[in-house]
Amino acid sequence: MTTTPLSVREKALRALSRVTRDQETGCLISATLDRKGRAVVRYQMDGQTIRVLAHRAVYAALHQPLKPYQALRRRCGDLRCVEPTHFTLTS
Ligand SMILES: [Zn+2]
Repeated sequence: MTTTPLSVREKALRALSRVTRDQETGCLISATLDRKGRAVVRYQMDGQTIRVLAHRAVYAALHQPLKPYQALRRRCGDLRCVEPTHFTLTS
């Protein structure tokens, strides 16, 4: 059983592991969604399911780890999208 959190890079790789490109919008659509339809990364740690938002995981790996209060906005508006060029830091 995993007892250490995934690294920033591992989370991003998982976030990008089950995606398809939408040829019209350029969105990178994740197949792993939560109940609200948001792209997420799920993993087990200490018997618990940890869930992180996939686009934040991707951003953290490419730029810097995000503070909880820092918001990312997707210009495409698609909650399933993890395409890094589609979101910008707004705070
Ligand atoms: Zn998008």
